[in-house]
Amino acid sequence: MVAQVIDGKAFAAKVRAQVADQVAKLKEENGITPGLAVVLVGEDPASQVYVRSKGKMTVEVGMNSYEHKLDVDTSEADLLALIDKLNNDPAVHGILVQLPLPKHLDEDLVINSIDPAKDVDGFHISNVGLLGTGQKSMVPCTPLGCLMMLREHHGSLSGMDAVVIGRSNIVGKPMAQLLLGDSCTVTIAHSRTKDLPDVVRRADIVVAAVGRPEMVPGEWIKEGATVIDVGINRIDAPEKGTNEDGSVKTRLVGDVHYASASTRAGAITPVPGGVGPMTIACLLANTLTACSRANDLPEPE
Ligand code: NDP
Repeated sequence: MVAQVIDGKAFAAKVRAQVADQVAKLKEENGITPGLAVVLVGEDPASQVYVRSKGKMTVEVGMNSYEHKLDVDTSEADLLALIDKLNNDPAVHGILVQLPLPKHLDEDLVINSIDPAKDVDGFHISNVGLLGTGQKSMVPCTPLGCLMMLREHHGSLSGMDAVVIGRSNIVGKPMAQLLLGDSCTVTIAHSRTKDLPDVVRRADIVVAAVGRPEMVPGEWIKEGATVIDVGINRIDAPEKGTNEDGSVKTRLVGDVHYASASTRAGAITPVPGGVGPMTIACLLANTLTACSRANDLPEPE
């Protein structure tokens, strides 16, 4: 069997186009432009890349993008003051604080100081509680993107056995909640799980969110299962040669060994081009939702 490739890049482009249409309609009919504020503290290179690409796509769908780049040694009080200002700014409908934060800042305190209605990352404790109890919330972007791809591929997920590998607050746990909400039988695996291969072999749906390059081999995957690979890992790729400075070139791989898994899975997301693009598309969709709710307008579908 050769797995069908779930093309996250193409699906994300479709989602962004739908968001752009709805933004245009909001502007025309209501004179409102959704606004997303992104706060970056410090100069972590990966975070800088993410923030740049979020800003670019925000503008591309017709929204306003507000970037706040703060020094690495910004005090907690100054960061909280900025968030307070954004919470009270009616032009800002979504606020995202890029993680990880420098060590001297309390991540939980900072995230929980964001107005939950503007918390487009869905990490505020109120949104976590709302999601856990099946109420209307802001849903974290990466798991939301995974769920959208699964629904698009399968239609109903009801009754399927799903295994989520990883129990982080930003991916694993909300992913499990969403799958449960869609009536899957959900197992959450983590670093202490006994006999992970056996757990994964039972799954109709495998979501890998670990951060270990290619740790899930194809032989763990049940024939015909759907594999969603959240991992983004950079590894040396000596076959690509060296950079100008003599260092070895690199490439991105997921948490799943793609070549072997795609001979057993029914469908699989590639890395890159799978979950990554869907994450940003969902951030824009969440910002549109937050803007519609703030203005008492019907929510976008
Ligand atoms: P975390 O490091 O926060 O969590 C990793 C999880 O994997 C933990 O729950 C850990 O278990 C578990 N784990 C570690 N080793 C093993 C093992 N040997 N067997 C089973 N489970 C294990 O990572 P994140 O959730 O933040 O991210 C996971 C991956 O997803 C990373 O590669 C990250 O780059 C990527 N990512 C991609 C995004 C995208 O847009 N595509 C967005 C966010 C993340 P324990 O709790 O026991 O330590």
